[in-house]
Amino acid sequence: MSRLRSQGYQAYLVGGAVRDLLLGGHPKDFDVATDATPERVHSLFRNSRIIGRRFRIVHVRFGREIIEVTTFRGHHDEEPDNNSRHAKQSDDGVLLRDNVYGSLEDDALRRDFTVNALYYSSEDFSVFDYADGLGDLDKRQIRMIGDPERRYREDPVRMLRAVRFAAKLDFAIEEETAAPIPELAYMLEAIPAARLFDEMLKLFMNGYAEATFDLLLKYDLLEHLFPATATALEEMEYAENLIRAAMASTDRRIAEEKPVTPAFILAALLWPPTIQLSRQIEGEGLAPMEAMREASQTIIGEQVHLIAIPRRFSTPMREIWEFQLRLLKRKGKGVRGLVAHRRFRAAYDFLLLREESGEDLDGLGAFWTELQESLPPAPDVPLEDNDPEQQPRRRRRRRRRPRKPPPQ
Ligand code: ATP
Ligand code: MG
Repeated sequence: MSRLRSQGYQAYLVGGAVRDLLLGGHPKDFDVATDATPERVHSLFRNSRIIGRRFRIVHVRFGREIIEVTTFRGHHDEEPDNNSRHAKQSDDGVLLRDNVYGSLEDDALRRDFTVNALYYSSEDFSVFDYADGLGDLDKRQIRMIGDPERRYREDPVRMLRAVRFAAKLDFAIEEETAAPIPELAYMLEAIPAARLFDEMLKLFMNGYAEATFDLLLKYDLLEHLFPATATALEEMEYAENLIRAAMASTDRRIAEEKPVTPAFILAALLWPPTIQLSRQIEGEGLAPMEAMREASQTIIGEQVHLIAIPRRFSTPMREIWEFQLRLLKRKGKGVRGLVAHRRFRAAYDFLLLREESGEDLDGLGAFWTELQESLPPAPDVPLEDNDPEQQPRRRRRRRRRPRKPPPQ
C-alpha cells in the first residue's frame, strides 16, 4: 500500500481482512483496493501477475502471501450504452464482465455485503465505511448492499457467500437480504461448474461446514447444488446424520490443524443417492460391486455438470464407497490384507460415521476396530489422489517475460 501511495495512488486494505481484524480474528488473506489500473499495479510490482476474466485483478506475491489487488470498480448499470464495451449483462441480468473503474465510494457500493465493504488506510489508520458495515458488525448481521434481489441476479454466487459468511462469523442474515434466496436459488444452476467447485471448497473446507450445511438447507440452496443428495435426504433415514457427522469431523480436524480433504465430505454428501441407486440396480440383478460402480458413475456423472469435481477427489470417493462393500466380508483370506490397503483408513472412518449416524451394520465397525488392534497400524495416507497420471503437471515458467512499459 505504501508503494502505491508513493506513486500518487490511493490504496486500502478491504474485504475479509478488515472485517476479520475488526472482529478480533485472524485474516485468511489480504485484499487491497486502489485507483491504479491493473496494468499500472503490475508494472509497479515485479512479483505480480494480472489474472481473471470477469474482474481483472493483480496477484502480488509478498513472501508466502499473495495479496489480491483490485482497481476500484464503478457503476455501469445506469448508462449501459457508454460502458457496453467493458460491462456486459446477459439477458437474465447476470454480470458477464465488470471492468468499469470508479471511485472509492463507487467501489464500496459494488461490493457484496456491508461488512465486506470497509476500507482501512495504513496511512492514517482510518476506516472508511460507506455502507454502515461497522453498524452491521455490531449487530452481527450479513446485509447486502443495495437491492438484494438485483444483486443476487447479477451474481447468484452471492447467495452462497451470504451463507458462508453467516456460518463462519456466526452472524444472522438480515431479513431483506435473506428473503429472496429460496426463490432465486435455482439461478446457481447456470453458474459455471468450475466456479461452483471453488465456492464449494470455501463453503465446506473453512472449518464451519456443519453450520454452512444447515443454512444451505434452510435457504433451499442445497437442492440446486446437490440435487440427488437433496432427494435422498427426504427418503433416507440416516442420510442427514451421516453428512452432518462427516462435516463435524472435518470441522474438528481443521480446528486441530490436521490435514483434511474435500473427498471425504463429498463422499458423505453423495453416498445417500449412490447407495440408494446401487441397491436399486442390485435389485435388477447386478452383483453388488458392479451395481456400486455403476451407481457411482451415474451419480458423479450427473453431479459434475453442476459442480466440477476433479478426478483427484472423485477417484478416492469411489474407492471409499467400493470399500464399504469389501468391509462387509469378515472372514477368509484377504481380510487382514485389507487393513494394509491405502484406502483402508478413510473407508474405515467412513464406516464408523455410518454407524454413528444410526445405520445398523451388526457391529461391523467394532469388528474392524478389533482386528486392527491385533495388527500393525494402517497407513494414514493422504486421501487425495496424487497419482501423477491423474493430475495436470504443474507448469513452471523458466524465463521471465520481458516487462512491457505501462500503457499510459
Ligand atoms: P474470505 O475471508 O473468505 O477471504 P472475503 O470477504 O475476503 O472473505 P473474498 O472472496 O476474498 O472474500 O473477496 C474479497 C472482497 O471482494 C469481498 O470482501 C467483497 O468485498 C468483494 N467481493 C468478492 N466477491 C464478490 C462478489 N461476488 N460480489 C461482490 N463483491 C465481491
Ligand atoms: Mg479475502
